[in-house]
Amino acid sequence: MKKSEIRKHYFLDKYVIVSPKRAKRPHETKVAKEERHKKDDCFMCPGGKVKVIYEIKDGKGGWLVRSIKNIYPALSLDNKYAYGKQEVIIETPDHSKDIHELSIEQLKKILSVYEERTESLSKIKGICYVLVFKNEGGRAGESINHAHSQVIALSMVPPVIQEEVVAIEKYMMDNHECPYCKVMKDEKKSPRVAWEDKNIFILCPFASEFPYEAWILPKRHLGSLHDMTEDEKTSLARALKHITRKLYSLDDLSYNYFFHNSLPENNHHMLLRVTPRPNVWAGLELGSGVIINAIPPEDAAKFYKAKLKSQVKNLVLGR
Ligand SMILES: [Zn+2]
Ligand SMILES: [Zn+2]
Repeated sequence: MKKSEIRKHYFLDKYVIVSPKRAKRPHETKVAKEERHKKDDCFMCPGGKVKVIYEIKDGKGGWLVRSIKNIYPALSLDNKYAYGKQEVIIETPDHSKDIHELSIEQLKKILSVYEERTESLSKIKGICYVLVFKNEGGRAGESINHAHSQVIALSMVPPVIQEEVVAIEKYMMDNHECPYCKVMKDEKKSPRVAWEDKNIFILCPFASEFPYEAWILPKRHLGSLHDMTEDEKTSLARALKHITRKLYSLDDLSYNYFFHNSLPENNHHMLLRVTPRPNVWAGLELGSGVIINAIPPEDAAKFYKAKLKSQVKNLVLGR
C-alpha cells in the first residue's frame, strides 16, 4: 500500500485515513517510559497497604493475582452522583515483571480474575456495565509501574458500547449473522490475519484506528470469558502473550487493551481489543473523529507474524 486510503469500520460508522507516507519506522515510535519505582515504595508489591477484594493464593501464604480497591476512585457505591466501583488487578507479586514476561499459567490466572470480578461486580444493584482494561506505558495512561489492569463498574451502558450494541443488533437483523463471525470468515485468507490457533483469531482490522491495532476474538461465538473452555482460555493467554511481547519489542510501545463483552440480554461476540498508542491524537482526530493511522493493518499483521528478532538483543541488554 503506497497511497493513503479512507477506510470504514466493518459495521460502525467510523472512518480512518490509512496514510503509510506518514509512517515512521517501528523503532522510531519509541515512548519514554518512566523508570520503575523503587520496590520499597510500591503499594502493589506484597506487604503493601491495600484493601484486598479478591485474590488467588499461591498456597505458601502469598498470592499470585489479586484485585484491590482503587485508592483514588472517581466512582463509589456510596455516592449517588457518581455511582459505581473501581478496582485494580495486580497481575503478579513480582515488581520487576511486565505482562509480556509472565507465564501462560499466570496469564490464565489473570484472565480468571478478570472473569470473576466482572461476574461479581455485574451482580451489584444499579450496575449496568463492567469494563476490564489495561493501560501499559506512560502514553496509554499508566501511572504506576507494577503490572496491573483495572476494572470499572458503571451505572450506565457507556456510549461506545451502546453504539456497538445498536450496530451489531442492526447487522444481525439485516444479515442473520454475527458481524464478528462474518469478519473472521471474510478475513480468513486476508493479509490482515496476525495470529491464530484452533480457538483464537487475531486480526489487524481493515480500518485500524491505531498503529498495530489488534482484535483478539474467540473463533466460537462467545459472549465473555465466562463462556470459554479451559482450552480456549489457554489459547487466549497465548494470544495475549504473543501480542504483548511483540509490542514490547517495538521499544516498549505504550498500549491499552480492553474487553467488550456481550450484555447479558444480548448474544453478541466478545472482543479483546488492543490499541497501541505511539502518537497523541491531535486537532483532526479530536475535532472530527476521523483518525489518521500511519501503519496499514497489512503491515501490522506482517509484524505480528514475523519472528521476534529483538528478543536476542533484549536478552543481551538484560531487559
Ligand atoms: Zn511493586
Ligand atoms: Zn460471532
